[in-house]
Amino acid sequence: MAVRGVGDEADPRRRVPRTDAVLADPRLAGLRERVRPDALKASVLSALDRVRSGELGPDRVVDVVLRETGEDPTSLRPLLNATGVVVHTNLGRAPLGEDAVRALEIAAGYVDVEYDVATGRRARRGRGAVDALLARVPAAGDALVLNNGAAALVLAATALAGGREIVVSRGELVEIGDGFRIPELLESTGARLREVGTTNRTHPADYRAAIGPDTGFVLKVHPSNFLVRGFTSAVPVRELAGLGVPVVADIGSGLLAPHPSLPDEPDAASWLADGATLVIASGDKLLGGPQCGLALGESAIVQRLRRHSLARALRVDKLTLAALEATLRARSTPTGEAITAAPDVLRHRAEELSRRLAAAEVSARVVASDGLVGGGGAPGLTLPGWAVELPEAYALPLRQGRPGLVARIEQGRCLVDLRCIPSARDEEVVRAVLAATDLIRGTDPG
Ligand SMILES: *Cc1c(COP(=O)(O)O)cnc(C)c1O
Repeated sequence: MAVRGVGDEADPRRRVPRTDAVLADPRLAGLRERVRPDALKASVLSALDRVRSGELGPDRVVDVVLRETGEDPTSLRPLLNATGVVVHTNLGRAPLGEDAVRALEIAAGYVDVEYDVATGRRARRGRGAVDALLARVPAAGDALVLNNGAAALVLAATALAGGREIVVSRGELVEIGDGFRIPELLESTGARLREVGTTNRTHPADYRAAIGPDTGFVLKVHPSNFLVRGFTSAVPVRELAGLGVPVVADIGSGLLAPHPSLPDEPDAASWLADGATLVIASGDKLLGGPQCGLALGESAIVQRLRRHSLARALRVDKLTLAALEATLRARSTPTGEAITAAPDVLRHRAEELSRRLAAAEVSARVVASDGLVGGGGAPGLTLPGWAVELPEAYALPLRQGRPGLVARIEQGRCLVDLRCIPSARDEEVVRAVLAATDLIRGTDPG
């Protein structure tokens, strides 16, 4: 392979073992039975590449392969997201930042999640995460962390509208993905939906006519994954707040305050300032934290949710609380960085990648590539960026590599979009493409 430089043979650290010799190593005997041959080979090739670059000693190859292929404590495969889609639900939505990962390590042991070390007694659970949330959204009187956005909606519907009516616009009856629909979710709680308006237009008078003694609350749902354009009209939270009943507002995304790059995306602070009683948001979409659902709003209402027995079934564990608190306190998140990545920086990285690949006789053009926020919100908004273009045949070996790299397939091309990959990992992208090249060419670098 072209990455092997002149003089490497002189450096004992870089004496690269042969691929078939590594594959035949008796320490890999167990692995050969459990792991698919192509996955095992991909792992060996990737380890050998690291030997070639001087990053790994030749005597460590088998250990690394064992750790990465066979001895992983989880069947989850680490992936590089080269799709350009920032909040990618199939890839686990938000990648956690360093602070959140450190918080997870601490929380893995015994911790004072529900304990006061000063008195030696029980304390309120997860206080740190709630305090961090209230510090970011001072307009909220109190907050509660649930398992996900859907759980927060279910709890609000049960506690505030059980056996009663939820008034909601027909334009906001959203399917959120994988066949799950907000109206069906709400009805599963025993609350009744009172649909008002039409798909494209709903007016204040529609809500007024529907509100009565049976109304639990008016629900506002942000259509986070689609756009309706043309002859449309919806009633903003500010006006709903004047109707004399509680307003529960589901922003979906998890933006806590206005974001300059996402001008059409609602945020918790603004909707609370507009008079929403309770705002529901996701922790792992635009907030960039662990999967969870946030309920923020008037203290008395949040308290009703917290005291409801269903809250116990929907509460989060110490790991989520720890990662959420760290995410809220961090100056930035990988999600935020991917959304705001500067196009010229992405272009420069793509050019550098293309240059590195050209040196190994892999031609990869740099092309403009629009990223997306994804399942987390901002439908219709494109994020201008750059990618390197490879033949479509690269997609499968890239996905199956170690780490796997999920590129975007577009018009028969495999686009490696760098938006969601931290620049510190560009070297891994080079290695992944070179390993895939070897597989495609059927050349064995050993
Ligand atoms: C994503 C979303 C939800 C569900 O949130 P999860 O955290 O995925 O359960 C609810 N409402 C809206 C508007 C959403 O976009």
